[in-house]
Amino acid sequence: MKTRRIEKINLLSATPGVETYLTVVRYGGHNEGRSGAQTNTQENTQDNRQRPPKVYLQAGLHADEWPGILALNHLQILLDAADAKGNIVGEIVLLPYANPMGMAQFLKGYHIGRFDFDMTGNFNRDYVDLANWAVDEVSLQLTENKLDNQQRIRKVFADKLNAYQPSLAIDYLKKQLLLLSFDSDYVLDLHCDTKSILHLYCNQRQQTQGELLAACLDCDLVLLEDDPGCIGFDIAGAGAWWKLSDLLKQRGIESPVGMPCFSSTVELRGQGDVDDVINAQDAANLYRYLVQIGVVQDEDVGLIAAQTASVPAQSISKLLTAVDTIIAPSAGLVVYKKALGEAVKAGDVVAELIDITQPPSASPRIPLVANADGIVFTQITNNLVRPGHTVVKIVGDTPLTYRQGNLLAF
Ligand SMILES: [Zn+2]
Repeated sequence: MKTRRIEKINLLSATPGVETYLTVVRYGGHNEGRSGAQTNTQENTQDNRQRPPKVYLQAGLHADEWPGILALNHLQILLDAADAKGNIVGEIVLLPYANPMGMAQFLKGYHIGRFDFDMTGNFNRDYVDLANWAVDEVSLQLTENKLDNQQRIRKVFADKLNAYQPSLAIDYLKKQLLLLSFDSDYVLDLHCDTKSILHLYCNQRQQTQGELLAACLDCDLVLLEDDPGCIGFDIAGAGAWWKLSDLLKQRGIESPVGMPCFSSTVELRGQGDVDDVINAQDAANLYRYLVQIGVVQDEDVGLIAAQTASVPAQSISKLLTAVDTIIAPSAGLVVYKKALGEAVKAGDVVAELIDITQPPSASPRIPLVANADGIVFTQITNNLVRPGHTVVKIVGDTPLTYRQGNLLAF
């Protein structure tokens, strides 16, 4: 029996006569609460999970980032086939587009989907702080049983989210995204950069799981966050667990809580990388991950050996504090001297800034140099820059002293 259901969630209308809604594609999930489902990841196997895994995937939260939208379009074809064979073991919630409000933001023919036109800022910032909301009630309910605690905490999270009455349409959207995802075991938020190699973000507490996801996606770079200094979508759900755990410890409560939700922001290269072949392969890789974590059964998909804690950190994982952001010191036109993915040394010229108000003979180009050894992993497409604009990011092995505070400021 096919399990796929398509749902429509109406959002708060911000404009008279304009309806916005989310389309939610659901697979599986009819056996909620059954015991014995196994996953193939070390951490979740150790959790002795008592329910089938739930996976949440969304694309286009930054509404002008479309490779993930195409990847999820392809992924639905694979999931439909698995569903027809009865191979969806757990629950999959898939949002083909996560931000219809951002998708509507065209200005004079140009689409701008990263920041809200209505002044609330970046669509992937300022989500609610579930841990702080829940800690008072949770602290009165905990037992010595971790799974029991997790069930109680999810109930408190759900109650808090349902009681939340945002007044702004954008906050209503953020609430709906969290309601759909907060109780997931795995949350994948598909984004892209301006120009970039494939990379993903995860919390450093979940490095092993991040590397497993990277292996499935053929991704060579995992950026490890501790506290990025803001509550993005990926932190709002998964991060609530370790933040809650920390808050409880501050109150002297050591009851087991665990980290039952792994989340990752996956950057599917650059905005121009909407490619039917490449994104179909991304979908196949995402499907491989779903098989790997046990939410889909497919014997034709090869599994990757799970990492163990004793395995030393792979070189693909880098700290977010080791990302060197090269800033334009003045206005001008940027040209690149190093390619995406290229290894550079400290002091190498990675780009040059041209002052186009002066003839070349009177104004030498300003060299923009790497502060540390690393790999060039993002560049920009708007080469006409203003002072303070980030023009290239390089990731190395060593934390940089100037990388503090809000590490995802832009
Ligand atoms: Zn994004």
